[in-house]
Amino acid sequence: MLCARRLGGLRAGLRVRRVSTRWSPVGAAFTVQPQGRRLDWSGERGGLFGVPELSAPEGFRVAQEKALRKTEQLVRRVCAMPPGPRTVLIFDELSDSLCRVADLADFVKIAHPEVAFREAAEEACRSIGTMVEKLNTNVELYQSLQRLLADKKLVESLDPETRRVAELFMFDFEISGIHLDREKRKRAVDLNVKILDLSSAFLMGTHLPNTIEKRLLPERIRHHFELAGDHAVVDSLRAEAPDDLVREAAYKIFLYPNAGQLKRLEELLSSRDLLAKLVGYPTYSHRALQGTIAQSPETVMEFLEKLSDKLSERTMKDFEMIRGMKMKLNPQNSADSPPRDHQGSPEELMPWDPPYYSGLIRAERFNIEPSLYCPFFSLGACMEGLSLLFNRLLGVSLYGEQPTKGEVWSEDVRKLAVVHESEGLLGYIYCDFFQRADKPHQDCHFTIRGGRLKEDGNYQLPMVVLMLNLPHSSRNLPTLLTPGMMENLFHEMGHAMHSMLGRTRYQHVTGTRCPTDFAEVPSILMEYFASDYRVVHQFARHYQTGQSLPRNMVSRLCESKKVCAAADMQLQVFYAALDQIYHGKHPLRSSTTDILRDTQERFYGLPYVPNTAWQLRFSHLVGYGAKYYSYLMSRAVASMVWRECFRQDPFNRAAGERYRREMLAHGGGREPMLMVQGMLQKRPSIDDFVNTLVSDLDLDFETFLMDST
Ligand SMILES: [Zn+2]
Repeated sequence: MLCARRLGGLRAGLRVRRVSTRWSPVGAAFTVQPQGRRLDWSGERGGLFGVPELSAPEGFRVAQEKALRKTEQLVRRVCAMPPGPRTVLIFDELSDSLCRVADLADFVKIAHPEVAFREAAEEACRSIGTMVEKLNTNVELYQSLQRLLADKKLVESLDPETRRVAELFMFDFEISGIHLDREKRKRAVDLNVKILDLSSAFLMGTHLPNTIEKRLLPERIRHHFELAGDHAVVDSLRAEAPDDLVREAAYKIFLYPNAGQLKRLEELLSSRDLLAKLVGYPTYSHRALQGTIAQSPETVMEFLEKLSDKLSERTMKDFEMIRGMKMKLNPQNSADSPPRDHQGSPEELMPWDPPYYSGLIRAERFNIEPSLYCPFFSLGACMEGLSLLFNRLLGVSLYGEQPTKGEVWSEDVRKLAVVHESEGLLGYIYCDFFQRADKPHQDCHFTIRGGRLKEDGNYQLPMVVLMLNLPHSSRNLPTLLTPGMMENLFHEMGHAMHSMLGRTRYQHVTGTRCPTDFAEVPSILMEYFASDYRVVHQFARHYQTGQSLPRNMVSRLCESKKVCAAADMQLQVFYAALDQIYHGKHPLRSSTTDILRDTQERFYGLPYVPNTAWQLRFSHLVGYGAKYYSYLMSRAVASMVWRECFRQDPFNRAAGERYRREMLAHGGGREPMLMVQGMLQKRPSIDDFVNTLVSDLDLDFETFLMDST
């Protein structure tokens, strides 16, 4: 088995380090109050993430120039070299030198509290971006890789990871049309530029508010909206507003079609289609899905159709339940009350109803008030829980490490060393967990430096940032997490461990740099651990009394997530199908709005509302074009892995080791279905994926009995 050998080889080359005195237990790193652990500001100031140049914003220019010079050297070197495995190595080094500046800058430009740093990082991103464009159209560079891939004998002699990485680099090249004649190449470059411009313009348009003349709004709801002169401004769907009329108005106004945005979307879709055809694919979807678990648009549609059919009965039941709640709260909505002047008979369920009423049902049926749970989920306890879980499953521990001066961008950022019991230090996670003015309000994982085997035989350790938005602790109160925050923390740590445990030879496929429909598997799998009583019991302790979180509270939480979950999933299926059709065969058979209406009827079930165009707010069409289904497919794989490997014993070390060996270790360096197959020890079918997702919606009978006694 190739990967075991490779890991064995790497292990021998790595220094095994004992736990250093610089490392403290992870829980302590998050429970000590900020004023108790001031950074040492004396002495020489180092740079961000330990990069010496980055002690000041000006350093970005130095770092980017250094990277560009190195790139030029490497380009000369690889072009002059006979083709062979070293070609791939140099390509990866080239990509590494650019990514190390670009990825770091990508993070700094949105998260650094100082404007000067953010601006310098923005500039670095631009200049590296220009360089990457230049490289993607550099014919000589392309030919150096082409010579390798055209030599059948040589290709056969490459190990699978090297071969895959070579093909991935080629795949990136080809979208620039570099393999085509001069005229077509120019068209490809022009299309790429056009797509980039349309993407950012469309993205901007998805967030813009719509306005309406104030007098057109029923008087009793006007005060719910921001008023500007004679107009009311509607900037969201107001999905959680208790008043039906407010939600209805917000839905109809916010989704009212905008001609400019409509044209941008149509042009974006047709340009993507033209580009895909130009570089040799029947549709944009075909290109986007190459190398993924699904592999083809046909498989994705089969998955979505089967899932939709299997869900439909449950979805109807959910809709019935939601309708019941709507009637109960608004008795005037009964069928014999006089019809109102707005759309839909009063008892009909409309697309603006489910999120609000399903929330009410959840709260009514299960007593899951977050404040009951928070005291059991102090951040320190949760981090200890994660460390303990990783330790038992994978032999890995998390330790707090004191950052050097200038290494972190805010005093409350914690640095974690991820340490394996026999391999030693695996990498670093910077935890930017706390709320801060100007910080983007999103939970996410950033790769700052990818792992790779360097030419000198040492392993370049991966470095990532996890960003959350948790409240600060105070003198008397540690940071307490709601169940939702706790689950997000586990999810994001799943991404981080994917990065830490990968030992790919190439940074181009490090950790989370893998196909989109595989990328969420490790993170969603962590959500299953976070919902298991045996795991939660290990760490959830009341921060004052030390009492464990009672078992029935954990069960209630898990069961509450299943309320109206079929309807939620059905909505995701509808979005994913819409994304597939938009990126499928062109010219489209009708307008994007007509397609939305038909797809909504086929895949969701609640009526389309005339004069609305939800697709113009579908921002994920830009970043996830033809891949919106990924989340559902990742969830299916994670669910199967949980059931087959961990449900019986969530601390099973052998299963944990297999998980690392078969899945995490490879990053994107192995075909994803092979990784899934290696883990499950069988090749799952589309039906398996559908069945596992639907089974997850079943209520747990044991909990039901326990709660009714
Ligand atoms: Zn994620």
